[in-house]
Amino acid sequence: MFLKQYERGRTFVAKLNYGSDLLEELNKICRQEYIKAGYIQVIGAVSSLKYGFYDQSTKEYTYTTYAYDESLEIVSCSGNVSLKDEKPFCHIHIIASDKKGKCIGGHLAAGTSVFAAEVVIQEILGEDLIRELDETTKLTLWK
Ligand code: ZN
Repeated sequence: MFLKQYERGRTFVAKLNYGSDLLEELNKICRQEYIKAGYIQVIGAVSSLKYGFYDQSTKEYTYTTYAYDESLEIVSCSGNVSLKDEKPFCHIHIIASDKKGKCIGGHLAAGTSVFAAEVVIQEILGEDLIRELDETTKLTLWK
């Protein structure tokens, strides 16, 4: 493990546009504001959801898309920002519920359509937090 200490930097609040792509918008904000490290929280609703599941034995993601006629509530959506290939990169997980309260979720993928989304991004300041391929898990993890 490693343990690093950071200080709080800027705090951003954003309201995303109807129909925008949730993950792409978060990445766009972080690249536009050059937020190199931080954490993110989102609440709201999506009209479609695409998430990944990482199979630890095959070391591959499989993706599931939900495009219900009914809306999905974002029950919880959070993640972090760090540098991947020298660019700010958002790693986000999401849980969403249908009208019966049944929850689905996983690793947020591009292809999730925003119905309404309220975002808070907290920048943290300190040593660069860089993602690199981890040979054991085959994931790009903090080095
Ligand atoms: Zn993930």
